[in-house]
Amino acid sequence: MNPRTITSRTLNSHHPARSRDLNNATRNSLPTHDDSGPLGSSHELEPLPVDHARLRRAVRELLIAIGEDPDREGLIDTPDRVARMYAEIFAGLHTDPAVFLQKTFTQKHDEMVLVKDIEFSSMCEHHLLPFFGKAHIAYLPNGQIVGLSKLARVVDAVARRPQVQERMTEEIADLIMTHLNARGVGVIIEAAHTCMSIRGVRKPGAKTITSSMRGGFLEFPATRAELMSLVFGGSR
Ligand SMILES: [Zn+2]
Repeated sequence: MNPRTITSRTLNSHHPARSRDLNNATRNSLPTHDDSGPLGSSHELEPLPVDHARLRRAVRELLIAIGEDPDREGLIDTPDRVARMYAEIFAGLHTDPAVFLQKTFTQKHDEMVLVKDIEFSSMCEHHLLPFFGKAHIAYLPNGQIVGLSKLARVVDAVARRPQVQERMTEEIADLIMTHLNARGVGVIIEAAHTCMSIRGVRKPGAKTITSSMRGGFLEFPATRAELMSLVFGGSR
C-alpha cells in the first residue's frame, strides 16, 4: 500500500477555483519553507465558496434575536464580515487533508520523526467557539517520509471545520498512519477551549490534552516514553 504520487498538473486541473483564488490566500499563516514542491502553494487553505447571502441573513437574524439593532452604524457591516470570516475559518471543510500526504520521498530513516508545537485554531462544534493550542505529530517512517510542513497543513485542514479535540487527534493519527504507511504514529494535542473559559464553568487556565497512539507508539512503551519526553520534558 504505497502512497500515491501525483503531479501538480493533475491536481491543479481538479481544483481550478483554488488556483484562481490564490491571491486571496494571504491570511494563511502556516510556514511555507518547502512549498516549492509539486504539492506547493496551489493547496493553501484559502477561503472557498460558502453561501455568503445565507450567512449574512443568518447573522442578521442572530443579532435581532439577541435584542440588537442590526441597522445601527457599528453593526451594519457585521453580517458581511462574519460571512467572510466563516468562509476562512471553515475552509478545511472543502479540503481533503490526505492531499498533503500524497507526495512522499524515499528515505531510509526508521527512527522517529517529530514535528512539535504546530499552532492551530479550530471551532468547537458544540458551541461554535474557538479552541486553540499546539499539535505535536510523530511518526515512524516505513521507507517513505513527507515534507515537514505538510504535517502542519494536515493539522490546518483538519482543524478548520467544526471539531472536537478528541476526534481531531484521532483523524490526524489515522491520516498519517494510512497515507504514509507508517510503522507508528503518535499525535498529542494541547488546547485551551474558550467554551470553558468565557462561559459555563469559566476556567480560563484549563488545558485539555489528548493523544492518539498507533502502531509502534502503542506497542513499545519505550518509544512512547521517548515521544513524551521530547514533547513535555526538558526545554519547556
Ligand atoms: Zn464547546
